[in-house]
Parts: sequence; structure tokens; C-alpha cells
Amino acid sequence: MQDYQVSAQGLWEDSHFIGGHVACDFANTVSDRVKTNRAEERFASPEQVESWCRSHHLVVPKGTGWISPDHIAALQELRDVGYGLLCKLIEGEAPSAADLSRVLKSAASLSIKPAVSGEGRTVFDLQKTVLQSGEDLPGLLALYILDLIYTADRHRLRRCSRCGWLFYDRSKSARRRWCSMKSCGNREKAKRHYQQRVSGFS
Ligand SMILES: [Zn+2]
Repeated sequence: MQDYQVSAQGLWEDSHFIGGHVACDFANTVSDRVKTNRAEERFASPEQVESWCRSHHLVVPKGTGWISPDHIAALQELRDVGYGLLCKLIEGEAPSAADLSRVLKSAASLSIKPAVSGEGRTVFDLQKTVLQSGEDLPGLLALYILDLIYTADRHRLRRCSRCGWLFYDRSKSARRRWCSMKSCGNREKAKRHYQQRVSGFS
């Protein structure tokens, strides 16, 4: 498992979730994966995991006693395996059988029934799922990784080239390039503007 710097960013809020799919938001609990010397762990503490779950409206027990360091380690490991699998999908490559079986094994360990909703295609419904223990969190999130791998339109799944965050583009035009226009999109625009000005003076 990779070692990341611990992020100075605090707890999770609804506005941080730009992934468009729970599996993307889970993968995005590491910041700045593109410049790996700056990659930051944002699932470092029980408080961060708890706030991520609550912001996703997953019903969890009160406090943070339900998440142990072992649960966090299992989550971090699953997340990195999931991120690797989803990146392979984006690049049009076959997933590694070992990585896929790691996610399947985690999903098979789930001891609760996830809530489902939707007509036609059944979808997992995180907001109606009640989690009793941190033991079940990796299994629950593994289901979302599998859902994205097997049912999503892979051309809508993208990786922000500035920060490495993943997102599922649900827009009609499906031309979104950045995790968020507010952060990476605007930074890229400013960079291009600066480069044009510099080259204009040379
Ligand atoms: Zn980005």
C-alpha cells in the first residue's frame, strides 16, 4: 500500500463530492495523485471517514467508535486497488485478475443487505443503507466499485489530468474535462493564459 502525506484538509462536506458516483468519491479520498510527491491521504482519521459517510448520507452509528484503525487500513487498501482498476478502465486496458478478485472478496464479506432502489436497472442506494459497523464499510464500497466497472459507460468515466481525481460525467454533452471548474479548470485556464502572455513577449 502506498504511503501518502496526511492532508491538512479537515472533514468532508457535501460540496467536496464531485465524482458523480460513490466509487469515484471513494477513490478521491487521496488528493493530488498526479504529482505523487504531493499526494495526500484524506481518509487518515476516524473523523474524516465518519464525515465522508455522513456527507454521503449513509446512516452510521453515533460518534467514531465504530471505525477502528484496522477498518481504515482496509478502506485505504481497497480504495487504492479500486483506483487502479478504474484507471485501467479509463485507459481501455483489461483489469488485473488479482485486483478484481480483491474487490470481489471484499464485496463478498458484506454482512448487511445494501438498500436498492430504481426501476429498470436496480441501483444501490447508499442513503437508505444502515451501517452497524466499520467492518462492513469496505464491502459496501466494493459493491460501488463493481457497479461502476460493470454497468457504467466507460467513456463517461474520466480522470482529471491536473489532480488525478476521478469523475463520472453525467452531463448531456459528456465533455467535462476537469474534476471541478472552480479548482483545476480555472487553474488550467490561468496557466494557459500565462503561457500565452509569456510566449507573446518572446
Ligand atoms: Zn482536478
